[in-house]
Amino acid sequence: IDEGVADIGIIGLAVMGENLILNMASKGFTVAAFNRTTSKVDEFISGRARGQTILGADDLPTFVSLLKKPRKVMLMVKAGAPVDAFIEMVTPLLEEGDIIIDGGNTYYPDTVRREAALREKGLYFIGTGVSGGEEGALTGPSIMPGGSPEAWPFVKPIFQGIAAKVADGTPCCDWVGEGGAGHFVKMVHNGIEYADMQMIAEAYSLLSGTLGLAPAEIGKIFEEWNRGELDSYLIEITADILSKIDDETGKPMVDVILDTAGQKGTGKWTSVTALDVGSPAATITEAVYARAISALKDERVAASKLLSGPAAQPAPDAAQFTEAVRQALYASKIAAYAQGFQLMALAARENGWKLDFGSIAMMWRGGCIIRAAFLDNIKQAYDADAELGNLLLAPYFAGIMASHQASWRSVIATAVTGGVWVPAFSSALAYYDGYRSERLPANILQAQRDYFGAHTYERIDRARGEFFHTNWTGRG
Ligand code: NAP
Repeated sequence: IDEGVADIGIIGLAVMGENLILNMASKGFTVAAFNRTTSKVDEFISGRARGQTILGADDLPTFVSLLKKPRKVMLMVKAGAPVDAFIEMVTPLLEEGDIIIDGGNTYYPDTVRREAALREKGLYFIGTGVSGGEEGALTGPSIMPGGSPEAWPFVKPIFQGIAAKVADGTPCCDWVGEGGAGHFVKMVHNGIEYADMQMIAEAYSLLSGTLGLAPAEIGKIFEEWNRGELDSYLIEITADILSKIDDETGKPMVDVILDTAGQKGTGKWTSVTALDVGSPAATITEAVYARAISALKDERVAASKLLSGPAAQPAPDAAQFTEAVRQALYASKIAAYAQGFQLMALAARENGWKLDFGSIAMMWRGGCIIRAAFLDNIKQAYDADAELGNLLLAPYFAGIMASHQASWRSVIATAVTGGVWVPAFSSALAYYDGYRSERLPANILQAQRDYFGAHTYERIDRARGEFFHTNWTGRG
């Protein structure tokens, strides 16, 4: 096959693929396009792609022939079997040194497997998270690539060219690490996103339940919050969401939306990974459970008639309570991010990845769903100490926890007393209290384990690693 003119080729003309192609073309790259259902190629070329440096192909050999060497084939198809199917079809058409990229929401162990298998065939593989949805893909997503480091120099100008940029021009895209590191970091991003969204929902629930505020009033509060330390995309869109009125009923849109949340699995993967590596990502997991309990709508409706609980009490001082909820939300958010970064550190150690946490914070600073001003503080924390054990230990974050925790505790106490459901807020506080405890009641667990299973324990007055067993019952 002769060398073509396209800088990169994209397979998969759904929401993400089409918009990424248009983004690349707008930045001066020539892009080849292919899709399993080839009628979509023709529609795209004669429609949105018209007049741009985008070349359609109706079959894979033609698609590959359009690419410059080393060829870069990017898959934007449904994660799972379709990715393997396309790798299998395209591999025989490529030659040594060519690059396959998977930009879907792939579970990172699949990326580890694919990178190793393609390396044996002399091909390079990049698994990359792409965040920001449709809008991000078109105007500047956050891109988190990992895999074969040899491939990065060839892909870097394209990815950094189309990625979102932070204020100083830094692209929200950099090399994450080898193997499945890119998809892993995207997965943790999504896990944090679950927690972030749930915590905002809980703040809404507290303001509506305890202060009896209407959605539009809460939207105004969120707008205000978005001008301070909570400044973030999710707060911004939630303010918008709360002010939206349903055309059909004239009611606030949020009041007509059914309270059952869907999920596609990335939050669950984060939790499963956290359990596998023994990282206490409790708030992320709580957010996954929160969606699970929300999905039990019929059961909840029935239970609400049978199970009693207190009624939410109105807060005596609305302004004070609102500020306390804001502080509780920020403290909870910091605890959830600390969990996400702790998970990345533990998994990196296990997988032999060298993750640069400051650079990851910058990749999330723009383009993606969890973009937030406070990621600058995270970057600064890792710049000051690259070996930082936990985000909570950085002076800025330790200071916020010190100044916000009285409000955080009182808001959770009010919620618990009034029967308001705040699983993410309270698990974040539990994480904070657990992490800052010099001594936990795990001594009791060790004693119980030794009692019933002779699992042994260590002593506080002996060297670590020396194990003891007690004959608890006195029986031989
Ligand atoms: P999608 O709905 O996940 O997938 C549609 C694409 O996959 C189409 O090109 C489709 O081809 C192809 N496809 C599906 N099943 C296939 C099969 N068995 N064999 C071959 N091709 C198959 O598309 P998307 O929403 O654009 O997402 C693409 C990837 O990006 C996914 O992994 C997604 O999770 C990830 N992602 C999506 C978003 C988002 O906001 N949508 C954000 C970030 C990441 P046909 O046209 O022939 O059916």
